[in-house]
Amino acid sequence: METDIQYLQLKNLCQLVKQNRLTHSIMLISKDDFALKYFSTQIAKMLMCKNLIDLACDKCVQCKKIEHHNHADVLTFPVEKTVIATEEMLQIIDSVFTMPFESDKKIYILNNAGSINAIAQNKLLKTLEEPPKGVYFILNVKNQANILPTIKSRCTKIYIENYSNNKIIEYLNQFNLLQEQIADIVDVCDGSMELAHNYAQNSSLLELIDFVYDLWLNLKHSSQIVQYSSRIYKLKNVFENFLNIFNIILKKVLECKFNIILHENRLVQLQQIAQDFSVEALSKIAKNLVELNEKFQRNCNFNIIIDVFLISFLEVKNKCQ
Ligand SMILES: [Zn+2]
Repeated sequence: METDIQYLQLKNLCQLVKQNRLTHSIMLISKDDFALKYFSTQIAKMLMCKNLIDLACDKCVQCKKIEHHNHADVLTFPVEKTVIATEEMLQIIDSVFTMPFESDKKIYILNNAGSINAIAQNKLLKTLEEPPKGVYFILNVKNQANILPTIKSRCTKIYIENYSNNKIIEYLNQFNLLQEQIADIVDVCDGSMELAHNYAQNSSLLELIDFVYDLWLNLKHSSQIVQYSSRIYKLKNVFENFLNIFNIILKKVLECKFNIILHENRLVQLQQIAQDFSVEALSKIAKNLVELNEKFQRNCNFNIIIDVFLISFLEVKNKCQ
């Protein structure tokens, strides 16, 4: 537990709380919703807990209420929608001046803060600058692109580290999964508990991993392209997962080539792919993969970009032997 990097991050934050040095506006940044929710809850507990040691105790009334989302002074937004709208922001800002109900602090957790519109952010700005005594704001941010620089500069930014593989395995053990499936998920989720959760819940995503390995291993002739592309056409709604798995296999194959890491999971398959593809071919495929993603984000014709990618995949494989 003590070597877990997230644990160390939280322990450092707890030190700041104990020394009364935690700033009143905190921006948590992670691609992983699980990590954002976990950290914001832990920080709220630290601020309210009566028995702080290395972390919040998780046993006192305050900690338990926060864990069960029924602490009257820990308020999570948006309440109904997926993003805080301007009107809800105005209600939040008005409410900061009312006294806490059951403690000496009020903590506002703003989920999905990266998607709040600029008008609502501007409304929040003044409150972040001069929050009333005992008021804390925790902004959970997946994507910083839309956050106003003025908001950023008012907050202490905390980049949450990825979950350790051990933590992810521990979580996945509660699902009815085979050991190989757990190993696959750990490989593709890249430290994101949210992704791990999605894979564990969705057998078609697990099958997607098999499919992408199959593509790397068995797409050898142009006559097979139709068979593979027609299957990928149907994957538009999970295409980011497809790209992610494809990319991770590519990375692992490169590692195999350079003997950087010996992967226990899928080792035979990875070694086979490493034999089939030269380093030059892999680097060209990596470049094509970036282009494919860009075209996908730009909403180019899906079927066409898939065909183009698969044709170039084979071409590169055969030319760069
Ligand atoms: Zn406690």
